[in-house]
Amino acid sequence: VVHAALRQAQKMEAVGRLTGGIAHDFNNLLQGITGSLDLISRKPDDPGRVSRWAGAGLKAAERGARLASQLLSFSRTQKLEIAPIDISKAVDGFVDMLRRSIGPTIQIRTDLKTDGLRVEGDQVQLEMAVLNLALNARDAMPNGGEILITTRLRPLQGDAELPDGDYVELAVKDFGTGMTPEVAERAFEPFFTTKETGKGTGLGLSQVYGTLHQSGGTVRIDSTPGAGTTVRLYLRRTDGRSRDEQQPRLPAAGEAP
Ligand code: ADP
Repeated sequence: VVHAALRQAQKMEAVGRLTGGIAHDFNNLLQGITGSLDLISRKPDDPGRVSRWAGAGLKAAERGARLASQLLSFSRTQKLEIAPIDISKAVDGFVDMLRRSIGPTIQIRTDLKTDGLRVEGDQVQLEMAVLNLALNARDAMPNGGEILITTRLRPLQGDAELPDGDYVELAVKDFGTGMTPEVAERAFEPFFTTKETGKGTGLGLSQVYGTLHQSGGTVRIDSTPGAGTTVRLYLRRTDGRSRDEQQPRLPAAGEAP
């Protein structure tokens, strides 16, 4: 009984720390937004400053939105909507959004060798996962650089973790700081971050991990300090049709429409 009570107390303490940290992050962002609005309201006639302050406020608001959706996708109550995804089409479709989110100092190059292949996954969560990986890659290259996104078919047999079968490997590669083995080992832990307060939530890779595991795949990190990092997502290949290919079924001859 004593042990159970102690465990409970420790859990409560951990939850308190986590929620405290989240509230702190949101508070900082809100202060950033309020500050910008306050400055704008004082100098409404100075278009140069107004647009600069509006930009700063927008950035804080976007960060808040990302933090909120990371928390949501992290919470277990959110079920994934698993459906076949045409993987090359999906990556092609959101790479422009990625470029906009990542900013101009980073080039994103793609090499997709999965034309027509479909995988099991939740498209929204998969986009979120690749966005999280690209943001980490950007943070690892503070002076700019290149992110390489590749896809290819990977048949697996006798893998230690995944059942035999065809997978698609989606890799996000950067040439940044890399991770020490100690950091790589803890990188998937929720709330583990090496970034300064207000910069990192420690939830990006937990979201990636949760999404991939719930889709019947996995995620692996290959990182060398000083050389860079490759994160590989493994998604199960499927023969099912993706949503945009599903035709309404026509009535067969003789069947009432
Ligand atoms: P956050 O980015 O908010 O810190 P993540 O869960 O996405 O949270 O990442 C956890 C930690 O893993 C990061 O703080 C960083 O130390 C390390 N990390 C993740 N991706 C990379 C990368 N591409 N290069 C170097 N370190 C990385």
